[in-house]
Amino acid sequence: MATTDEGRRNARFAIIGAGMSGILSAIKLCEAGFSDFTIYEKAERLGGTWRENTYPGIACDVPSHLYSYSFDPNPGWSHRFAPGSEIQAYFEDVARRYEVEPSIRFGEEVVRCEFVDGRWRLETSEGRRDEVDFVIAATGVLHHPNIPDIEGLDDFEGALFHSARWDHDVPLAGRRIGVIGTGSTAVQITGDVIDEVAALSLFQRTPQWIMPQENPPYTDEEKRAFREHPEELSQLRDDLSRLFAENFSNAVVDADSPQMKMIEDACRANLENNVKDPELREKLRPDYRAACKRLVVSPDFYDAIQKPNAELVTEPIERVEAAGIRTRDGRLHELDVLVLATGFRADQFMRPMQVIGRGGRKLDEIWADRPAAYLSVSIPDVPNFFMLNGPNGPVGNFSLIEVAELQLAYILQLVELHRAGACREISASEAALAEFDAQRTEAAKSTVWMTGCRSWYLDSRGIPAAWPWTFDRFRKEMAAPDLAAYELVE
Ligand SMILES: Cc1cc2nc3c(=O)[nH]c(=O)nc-3n(C[C@H](O)[C@H](O)[C@H](O)COP(=O)(O)OP(=O)(O)OC[C@H]3O[C@@H](n4cnc5c(N)ncnc54)[C@H](O)[C@@H]3O)c2cc1C
Repeated sequence: MATTDEGRRNARFAIIGAGMSGILSAIKLCEAGFSDFTIYEKAERLGGTWRENTYPGIACDVPSHLYSYSFDPNPGWSHRFAPGSEIQAYFEDVARRYEVEPSIRFGEEVVRCEFVDGRWRLETSEGRRDEVDFVIAATGVLHHPNIPDIEGLDDFEGALFHSARWDHDVPLAGRRIGVIGTGSTAVQITGDVIDEVAALSLFQRTPQWIMPQENPPYTDEEKRAFREHPEELSQLRDDLSRLFAENFSNAVVDADSPQMKMIEDACRANLENNVKDPELREKLRPDYRAACKRLVVSPDFYDAIQKPNAELVTEPIERVEAAGIRTRDGRLHELDVLVLATGFRADQFMRPMQVIGRGGRKLDEIWADRPAAYLSVSIPDVPNFFMLNGPNGPVGNFSLIEVAELQLAYILQLVELHRAGACREISASEAALAEFDAQRTEAAKSTVWMTGCRSWYLDSRGIPAAWPWTFDRFRKEMAAPDLAAYELVE
């Protein structure tokens, strides 16, 4: 292994994925003086989530000035919650300005990573091989579309697609649209297309609490002020981060907190005051607590679902047929377009990529029960391999950019030990992971996520696969690694 003039070890990196986290990794590795890396991206374009999700109405649901890199604020966001296309453009612009693109190998999926003789051997779908000291898996969490197991899906003769694979060649104007699902995506689609389509049927299995949230545009003066006074912009980001932590992040981890009550009151008032028809109101009323499932925020969903061309279908789906959806009451809902707004397989993470760690330990075996990682970044016996937005980290209504930035700064401190010659291999110990998991499981009991709903946060045991403590605690944990939790091998 090469060393620098100062006797410090060099290292080569593979970053897997060129979404928000992969772009961040490239920028921060360069900043830390690591220039030997390749980013592997299986698609032909960067952006991850924001490249793939182009459905009508897609927008950030945390304020955009918080959903931006801390080192590259964007004075130009058009709205408080910017549309997806602007977010995609932002990541492309950042990648161009920081000269990330030349390091990306597009169209190359990493299919296998094996740790052999202290280094990672990678294999891509194109048959390329690479050998690196460190792997950063920036492969995303909401990435693998969840296709529901509904009888007859293939029989449908209209256009059918998952919301993350929107077919823009399919016209919507004047047509009958069916949307399956009631999460953030379905709510955004409904609000956006309702005035264009002839009819919209929203197939609801579970109603959702809706947090009312206006989405005003920024005026030209405001944008100019952000541009001319970057310190104000950075203050705004800090304020948003603090407000978000105090009022939301901390609320969900303490189901009995006053902040949680405020969220519940706001959602309940939204339903009571803005849905006129009592029958529809009851159909839209969840029987679980607000924020138990990922909280849906929307300025216009209740307006949209009350329009004459909208129908909320609560009768369970029996099957899909050539002409539409047959519900259990025998009714056929005739449709031209059927959208599966059915979310993602959030427990997949970097799989189906094969990862084989020290001593031939396979990730599929390590994760046979469920995905786990110490503090969400490191897996025992999978040395020099770190994840961004990995299992059991903060998910939900956080800014995942903030999360990834904190995780990466932490990971770079571990990498630094290698550079300084303190170790060649570093990974969390089994004991540290076991203790973390036990504490996490215990703490989850007082979160709102465990107050009696079904959600994608919950693992096969019904335990939320999410950070169950405050965001401040996450910040503190990420500030500096506790090396007692790590196995260092020279
Ligand atoms: C509809 C939607 C709305 C969202 N809204 C918000 C929001 O408002 N706020 C928020 O904080 N978060 C939101 N998220 C979460 C969002 O996923 C993250 O904010 C962020 O974009 C994740 O970035 P990432 O780089 O970690 O992962 P991704 O954006 O998923 O990117 C992962 C990349 O890795 C590539 N890849 C995966 N596996 C491989 C492989 N084996 N080889 C090569 N390449 C690979 C993928 O092609 C992809 O480009 C939303 C997600 C969705 C789906």
